[in-house]
Amino acid sequence: MIPLITTATASQAAYIVAALLFILALAGLSKHETAKVGNSFGIAGMAVALAATIALTIDLDIKGSSFALLVAAMVVGAAIGLQRARVVEMTGMPELIALLHSFVGLAAVLVGWNGYLLVEHEPDGAEALHLDALGTLGIHHAEVFIGVFIGAVTFTGSIVANLKLSAKISSAPLMLPGKNLINLGALAAFVGLTVWFCLDPQLWLLIAVTIIALALGWHLVASIGGGDMPVVVSMLNSYSGWAAAASGFLLENNLLIITGALVGSSGAYLSYIMCKAMNRSFISVIAGGFGIEAGPGDDKDYGEHREMNAEQVAELLGDASSVIITPGYGMAVAQAQYGVAELTRKLREKGVNVRFGIHPVAGRLPGHMNVLLAEAKVPYDIVLEMDEINDDFDDTDVVLVIGANDTVNPAAAEDPTSPIAGMPVLTVWEANNVIVFKRSMASGYAGVQNPLFFRDNSAMLFGDAKDRVEDILRAL
Ligand code: NDP
Repeated sequence: MIPLITTATASQAAYIVAALLFILALAGLSKHETAKVGNSFGIAGMAVALAATIALTIDLDIKGSSFALLVAAMVVGAAIGLQRARVVEMTGMPELIALLHSFVGLAAVLVGWNGYLLVEHEPDGAEALHLDALGTLGIHHAEVFIGVFIGAVTFTGSIVANLKLSAKISSAPLMLPGKNLINLGALAAFVGLTVWFCLDPQLWLLIAVTIIALALGWHLVASIGGGDMPVVVSMLNSYSGWAAAASGFLLENNLLIITGALVGSSGAYLSYIMCKAMNRSFISVIAGGFGIEAGPGDDKDYGEHREMNAEQVAELLGDASSVIITPGYGMAVAQAQYGVAELTRKLREKGVNVRFGIHPVAGRLPGHMNVLLAEAKVPYDIVLEMDEINDDFDDTDVVLVIGANDTVNPAAAEDPTSPIAGMPVLTVWEANNVIVFKRSMASGYAGVQNPLFFRDNSAMLFGDAKDRVEDILRAL
């Protein structure tokens, strides 16, 4: 006899296919050359997952009105998502991603609360869902509580990250007195309340953990300084994955558990890699700047800076035999990458050895500079990572710092009291001449003054990076 294939088994099979497609997507996204294919795998996986989930919902025989709600939510969500994706600038991606993480956190909180209202709060809820008093019901209590906690931390943490990244609030770390004790106290309260809730699931306990977690998420991210924000973005990515996995347990949805775990662990690993690249303690950053105390205010007098105009820089480049370009966030803002690519081509035609030095956190998202340079068709083989190029600066005639600031700040290497002390930086100041392209003497994302601008071998080329690069091209 042929076994009957039900919608439930077909959906589970589709979930496995979707999970495999998500794994292929992650594998593809790990390299430039395969990133597009990886993206397509992700889209296909999501389409399969959505189709299977809709089929499952229809099979559950839900009311027509609920189905209409589901379709309406999908249409509205898809329309907003499409519109945002079309208009977002590359430089606005991290804040958009942070906002999207906040939705995952909020969804986990709502799923947790829904689980509570359906089971613990409802006298017959546990029986209706076939949860027995001692075993699965106890696990249900824990799932509700942990899901709400992770979701609420992710929700407010992501909102603060969004506000900091979009410069709506200051990126400087919030330094409340006893901030480490506040974090540890909140964690201890969470553990204690979880045990209490599992023994006696009262409503006020759930309200209490929601409030504590919302406050903790806010405080954790607010305490992290601008320079460490890249790690925060990937850390919140990880939290949102664990929040989704917690919802998956509550909803008994295997795909949500698998994808949540994939996002959670890959986000955690990315945070770890970035911490290593920035010489930061992983624990210290994820615990909201644990152990980091505020350095003294930066009111040092660094002396006078020197200025050059585009013609003088063109002349300098005309005489150079080796040039290194270190791009940063300002190149992305100015969209100067095409002019920079053209300048590179011209100089190379003249026999100048031109290379790029890319800092791991240059710009506003991992790989930001590599994407822009690839877009402008700069050959991959002259685009080098920081570790590959740092020893070559002292042998270089001219370094063009195009819209970079924190990633070329000598204070990170030389001033132990600097908020970015210990972060590896591109040692551009070792070159014979350093030209800094920016619009003013303003500080970079971390809000720290940059002594590079006042060095004898440095000169500022003020103005929009794109305009200045074009001026140099004309003068060449
Ligand atoms: P910074 O953000 O330190 O500095 C960018 C500089 O570009 C500014 O000083 C600004 O100066 C200048 N600039 C802005 N617009 C223009 C323009 N149109 N033309 C010319 N210059 C311009 O950049 P970096 O790339 O060096 O450092 C990245 C920072 O961002 C680090 O602190 C990093 O930790 C953080 N970060 C990185 C993330 C990542 O994943 N890569 C994520 C989140 C944060 P002025 O206003 O005077 O023009």
